[in-house]
Amino acid sequence: MAEKILALVPAAGSGRRMGGPQAKQFLALAGRPILSHTLAVIEAAKEVVGSVVVARAADQDRVWQECVRPYGLGKVQRVVAGGARRQDSVAAGLAVCRQLGADLVVVHDGVRPLAGPELFAHVIAAARRWGAAICALPAAETIKQVDQRGVVLSTVERSRLWLVQTPQAFETGLLWRAFEQAAAQGWQATDEAGLVEKLGQEVRVVPGSGHNLKITTPQDLALAGRWLGGAAPLMGQGLDVHRLVPGRPLVLGGVTIEHDKGLWGHSDADVVCHALMDALLAAAGLGDIGQHFPDSDPAYKDISSLTLLAEVMALLSQRGLRPAQASVTLVAQAPRLAPHMEAMRRNLSQALDLDPGLVNLAATTSEGLGFTGRGEGIAALALASLRPREQPAEP
Ligand code: MG
Repeated sequence: MAEKILALVPAAGSGRRMGGPQAKQFLALAGRPILSHTLAVIEAAKEVVGSVVVARAADQDRVWQECVRPYGLGKVQRVVAGGARRQDSVAAGLAVCRQLGADLVVVHDGVRPLAGPELFAHVIAAARRWGAAICALPAAETIKQVDQRGVVLSTVERSRLWLVQTPQAFETGLLWRAFEQAAAQGWQATDEAGLVEKLGQEVRVVPGSGHNLKITTPQDLALAGRWLGGAAPLMGQGLDVHRLVPGRPLVLGGVTIEHDKGLWGHSDADVVCHALMDALLAAAGLGDIGQHFPDSDPAYKDISSLTLLAEVMALLSQRGLRPAQASVTLVAQAPRLAPHMEAMRRNLSQALDLDPGLVNLAATTSEGLGFTGRGEGIAALALASLRPREQPAEP
């Protein structure tokens, strides 16, 4: 009978070390959630026929919506709710792998997106032979024991020290016994192999990879982005048009401008901010402002679009992104905008938390042609690029 190998992917962490409110598995890496990269590696590991992802109960749907379906990752069979500790989450996922009839289970951290499929091939081959295998790297740096005052107690002999990674592969029955015993005896371990070792079972080591980064800090995220060729900027464009009507204030780029007409709309109808918000959302792959701030919602009635822009910034920040550069072109026949351009640019650069030199604002007429030329409305076009945040997002 063919052997069934399933991957078990714990992704239930809260990401506290990232410094933000966002679980790190959903942060954007080269334009898509970290977890989607990890699952794509599993998709490419040919020995693995399916996977079980463990997420926080509140995030189960989000894993399907943001990390699985958009990328056509057909191997994901279940997204199950995890527990408080990693060990509880893996136990929950393991029960499901067992129900699904797995002969071998490969546990792999949801936030290790750079493990290549060959790493899976190596640990799986070793686990088939010996029952339990992990990948690890020999410690390259000198290791010391240090007390709470920061004083060195001793230098540890490092020749037998290895830094452990995932994937870790186990015969399902063996890993199940280890978890049963852990529950019965109150064992705790920071990796699955730790529990198997307590059973007295041999665990084999195969060479890991220096690129198999566990993304824990904003610096890790930035480094992984560079390794993935994340130098390619995330770009987005936006376009907005509003009608000019009497009896409304004219607000552009957060500046109220003297004019006999103003822009009609549900909010303050600031086309500059709206086009820019669309460009930012587009660069992050987050749709458009209509989806996030619907006209039908009374909360947005006459609201300042700078407030909405701040909400877009929070959405980007939750995904580990921030603006890199922005450019807006206004198309209006009247009023004359030149006296207001500097104030608008200042507002935008503040709202985007960008140096004013990275925010451009241009205005043109349309030579009397079309709806803008006849003074029936004002249009704005925007371009924006994003980059990873290297500083923690504010909670
Ligand atoms: Mg609009």
